[in-house]
Amino acid sequence: TNVVREVRTQTLIDGVDATYYQPDRARPVRAAFVVLVRNSELLGMKRAMRQIEDRFNTKFNYPYVFLNDVPFTENFKAETTAMTKANVTYGVIPHEHWSYPSWINTTYASECRQNMHKQGVFYALSESYRHMCRFNSGFFFRHPLLENIDYYWRIEPDVEYSCDINYDPFLYMHRHGIKYGYTIALHEYTETIPTLWATVKNFIAAHPEFVLHGNGYKWLSNDGGETYNGCHFWSNFEIGSLSLFRSPEYMKYFDYLDKAGGFFYERWGDAPVHSIAAALLLKKEEVHWFKDIGYYHNPWLNCPLDKESRLRCHCDPEKSAVHHYWASCTKEWPELPGNGSLASNSTDGK
Ligand code: GDP
Ligand code: MN
Repeated sequence: TNVVREVRTQTLIDGVDATYYQPDRARPVRAAFVVLVRNSELLGMKRAMRQIEDRFNTKFNYPYVFLNDVPFTENFKAETTAMTKANVTYGVIPHEHWSYPSWINTTYASECRQNMHKQGVFYALSESYRHMCRFNSGFFFRHPLLENIDYYWRIEPDVEYSCDINYDPFLYMHRHGIKYGYTIALHEYTETIPTLWATVKNFIAAHPEFVLHGNGYKWLSNDGGETYNGCHFWSNFEIGSLSLFRSPEYMKYFDYLDKAGGFFYERWGDAPVHSIAAALLLKKEEVHWFKDIGYYHNPWLNCPLDKESRLRCHCDPEKSAVHHYWASCTKEWPELPGNGSLASNSTDGK
């Protein structure tokens, strides 16, 4: 047991020293869990919160911001508030952030949904799913409840956190200048985004000065930018800086995509929209793979492989998405030329 205790105190986490564990210090970053969720998902929400709390937040006490397109029920509020000592707030999404903009032809949008349905696309017929993706792409960071928040950690009902997180990822990001953190990166179903890449290329042609990370292209495209390979950070987990989304560059990018109509005529997801922005608008060092965070959202898992993690995780590393070709983008980002300096430092046996 001495050995176990020593390992625990000496190698809290790959490459992250114990100074990141400082729950009693004044909070240096303004951060919150941000949760878009339906009243009907209360039990799954409680399950996710139980794990977040046990694995991380009882030590760090970050607030939760719950958002919904309809008001939360008193019962939802009472039962989720009871899950944590931290501050919890509940907000309704403004109508303009969850409805059709004036330039969308809703008759045509309906035809497009039927056509996608015939192709067997997941959520093809769902209007709410499209509002959700558009909200997460362009509006969540504008909600008044996030006004005084700089970093967010997205969580969803029914996700699992399978490792103790003994340091503060927000503080880690703040200190290292990281603006976007992910656990799993996947390929996208291209039927949901037939014209997304062409739209992005038009946007870049109009604003070439926005592209900071030329190598981001290599992660997004296997043919020099001609086509999108579908690589995206799986956005049901995100720890990010809201400054990315609130930047004039991102706002212009989102507006451009929104005007093109693909959130409704196709089914553009917030994951590829965020990912393309992170890959192109951020510097490579500003994107980080949280490979040490054990995370599961059906059907994919991120589970750290190293020995130290066996002492703080209950997941099966053999089932980790990184072993699967569909998640090969997870590895390709850190392995981009010049990338992954943080990831490789973290194996120095600290
Ligand atoms: P998937 O992960 O792509 O299968 O999509 P989900 O059904 O998990 O939705 C993503 C997130 O948005 C989850 O946190 C859901 O709770 C939330 N969400 C999806 N649709 C709605 C909706 O119509 N209203 C609200 N309030 N939340 C939604
Ligand atoms: Mn989900």
